[in-house]
Amino acid sequence: MQKIKYKNYNPKLKEECGVFGISNSLESSTLTALGLHALQHRGQEGCGIVSYDGKNYHSEKRFGLVGDNFNKEKILKNLPGKFAVGHNRYSTTGSAALRNIQPFFADTNAGGIAISHNGNLTNAITLRNKLVKEGAIFYTTSDTETIVQLIAKSKREKTIDRVIDAVFQIQGGYALVMIAQNTLIGVRDPFGIRPLVIGKLKNSYVFTSETCALDIIGAKFIREVENGEIVYVENNELKSLKPFPPKKIKPCVFEYIYFSRPDSILNGKTAYEYRKKFGEELANEDKIKADLVVPVPDSGNAAALGYSQKLGINFDLGLIRNHYVGRTFIEPTQKIRSFGVKLKLNANKSSIKDKKIILVDDSLVRGTTSYKIVKMLYDAGAKEVHLRIASPEIKFPDYYGIDMPTKKELLAANKSVDEICDFINAKSLKFLSLNGLYKAMGFEGRNNSYPQLTDHYFTGEYPVEIVDEVGNDKITQLSLLSANSNN
Ligand code: AMP
Repeated sequence: MQKIKYKNYNPKLKEECGVFGISNSLESSTLTALGLHALQHRGQEGCGIVSYDGKNYHSEKRFGLVGDNFNKEKILKNLPGKFAVGHNRYSTTGSAALRNIQPFFADTNAGGIAISHNGNLTNAITLRNKLVKEGAIFYTTSDTETIVQLIAKSKREKTIDRVIDAVFQIQGGYALVMIAQNTLIGVRDPFGIRPLVIGKLKNSYVFTSETCALDIIGAKFIREVENGEIVYVENNELKSLKPFPPKKIKPCVFEYIYFSRPDSILNGKTAYEYRKKFGEELANEDKIKADLVVPVPDSGNAAALGYSQKLGINFDLGLIRNHYVGRTFIEPTQKIRSFGVKLKLNANKSSIKDKKIILVDDSLVRGTTSYKIVKMLYDAGAKEVHLRIASPEIKFPDYYGIDMPTKKELLAANKSVDEICDFINAKSLKFLSLNGLYKAMGFEGRNNSYPQLTDHYFTGEYPVEIVDEVGNDKITQLSLLSANSNN
């Protein structure tokens, strides 16, 4: 386990995304658009689809939501062929240029390849610098292009062997879906930090981030791609390779806590079931009496329900959500983010007036959401607001593809629970304990010698080495071309 020193993390290469790929379907691009729509929560900055028609590849990339872009027959007609791969890109402070929207397409010596990537490589800049020194030309500022360059550079003949060559060189948390001629390829990192699942629809196979993208197209969920596994579909047959030395899986705990859609299945249960259990366990660790349990919608819904059922306290909707705004957290500046909470939520005066309330959310990151909501509830007449968070204190940043701020901005990294409670102006504050989190997931507790999950957010234990020197000035500008250039 590695404990690392933090400078200011440079999020330039960050990708927190949804991926989808399908083989052998006459409706490949339409089904990909639907799959991406179901994965919209994984990224809203941009979306793209690349299809393969047996001879040529076709690419369409857009800023914004899938439903606003891939909604017309005209655009889907530009994407013919039986193979398609798609991508939703998450908004980060990195370059928002169109050229950074995936899938990336490249002509290689072994033919064309289109790639979608969810996750973050921890040695991408190191590899990129080496490749640039050797003469490689980079078009984007994304770490995904490093993978493309490694595949293109491999001396192996078959694309699948080139992919193996490439994944042996990269490190981090990643899930990749590619099409290379009539082959659909999926890769999950050696610890299975990022999710990837396999589905089947008639004669087609689907590789995608979450099972909700299978449900929307009526595909059957076959299984998760295993950690360190490469799966591919050739001549309609699903094949599997395990080129890495075997390791135990260690999925990212934040997929369970927040990121995955509640109806998606993670290790045999829906994210919803886990979140409800987190709420129940939080209640087990608590003794408070109150009039109401109020969720922060939608992120705290399942945990609040579990909490209220466990303690037998009424559950009520004390906050009403406007569904026509995206996730507040992803707005790129703190100023917009603070405003965003008000855009999204309003207090439901009739249910909270003069009540002692337990407010439940899934996680506390910068504390902006909680601060605003507690104030909102008091302004609307609540008697007492007690905040309960259905995960432990987040003290360490992420390097594997979840959008987390620097240590400086993480509230729990810099304040004690009592100080956070004061800052937020809540009457009391409790977080789910780390062992409670593991218990809620069906473990006896955290196995400290081999943690069952990637949980560095709470512990600072990073399963994959961070090779790139984060915060190094030398890497802050990856491209001299300005981000807004129309290129
Ligand atoms: P904050 O206001 O910074 O404390 O953020 C906490 C809120 O953001 C909670 O309501 C979470 O559901 C949500 N959240 C937590 N982590 C993330 C993330 N990585 N991306 C987007 N939203 C998040």
